Amino acid sequence: MTLEKFSEIVHRCFRCGYCKFTGGKTVDDQWFINCPAFKKWRFETFSPGGKMWLIFAVMNDELEWSESMAKIIYSCTTCGNCMEHCVFNFNEDIIDIFEAAREQLFFQELAPEKFRQFGEHVAREHNPYMEGHKDRLNWLPKDAKISETAEVGYFVGCTASYRQTQIAQDTVKILNRLGVEFQILGEEWCCGSPLIRTGQTKTALELAKHNIEKFEEAGIKQIITSCAGCYRTLKEDYPKKFELTYNFKVLHLTEYLEKNLDKLNFKEALNKTVTYHDPCHLGRHANLYEAPRAILKKFPGIKFMEMKKNRRDATCCGAGGGVKSEFSEWSLEMARDRILEAIEIGAEILVSTCPFCNRNFLDAKREFNLNIEIYDLTELLLKYLI
Ligand code: SF4
Ligand code: SF4
Repeated sequence: MTLEKFSEIVHRCFRCGYCKFTGGKTVDDQWFINCPAFKKWRFETFSPGGKMWLIFAVMNDELEWSESMAKIIYSCTTCGNCMEHCVFNFNEDIIDIFEAAREQLFFQELAPEKFRQFGEHVAREHNPYMEGHKDRLNWLPKDAKISETAEVGYFVGCTASYRQTQIAQDTVKILNRLGVEFQILGEEWCCGSPLIRTGQTKTALELAKHNIEKFEEAGIKQIITSCAGCYRTLKEDYPKKFELTYNFKVLHLTEYLEKNLDKLNFKEALNKTVTYHDPCHLGRHANLYEAPRAILKKFPGIKFMEMKKNRRDATCCGAGGGVKSEFSEWSLEMARDRILEAIEIGAEILVSTCPFCNRNFLDAKREFNLNIEIYDLTELLLKYLI
């Protein structure tokens, strides 16, 4: 079990509680609660420092894991706001600690039943959506130009393969228009992100090994993905958490497009106020903030505006860490609140670069009847590109 390797940090955490707040850097800079779990329950145990207390107590045999403690440890979107604001700079270790605690809870069969169910399905069918692996490429347009030998591979991910299929289709069309030769592997399996975030690392490791093997067998030297969760998992978790090596580069689609900005030609002006939501797994988890903004600012006629909480201080969309599956109502409330932040600055369009954020925003827009257009950047690009 990996929690032991963090024992020193768990011990050193001061339980001071500062990491649940952002602000106060200047005299008129307002403090605000950045931890969605603390904001929801307003009980210190749900805050990142409170979770650290629980983990400390279990590691020191003062408490034993229980179902009610599992609820607290799982009520975390892994948004990473706390890791940005730890006064002792424990940073990314905080999320790793929570995920390691979830590993123990899962092992002791205290994790929510839904997680076990989708974990078993991923082991069989390689996706968490209860779909068949044979249907993974059903979204692929018949006229798409896909290579069987190219050194670039498009890693589609499960959400774009089975739910937000528009994003997969639009990514293929954009790459085709730019003349990029690329492969899509029918042997692609779930990247493992939903399993890692919910404590199911054993199965996730098998997925990681499989994906690396298949991409290397296919001679792929560069992976492009349009999913923030897949990006973080392939780029950060495979080498750091699983200590796996591979000989390809991993790029988010926006990084690839930023390097080819001069090839983006637009047929008409956008003429709307647009804002950008930083997906947690692309921003705080992978430090990728500027490429999506550089692409958006290329749209002729665009009025680009930042929300008050942006980049490292961006609010979470509410979908991550297993929260959309286990706490669906709370998840939608978070998406609603983020959309309201966009509406507050007068945005007519809210753009993100993650199928999971896109899905939660669309669900919240429908649920709360909110008046704003929601797009993944791929969809917006395809509407306006020549
Ligand atoms: S990752 Fe986000 S939700 Fe989880 S404890 Fe930290 S701030 Fe709260
Ligand atoms: S993680 Fe850092 S900021 Fe948060 S309670 Fe512990 S020491 Fe304090």
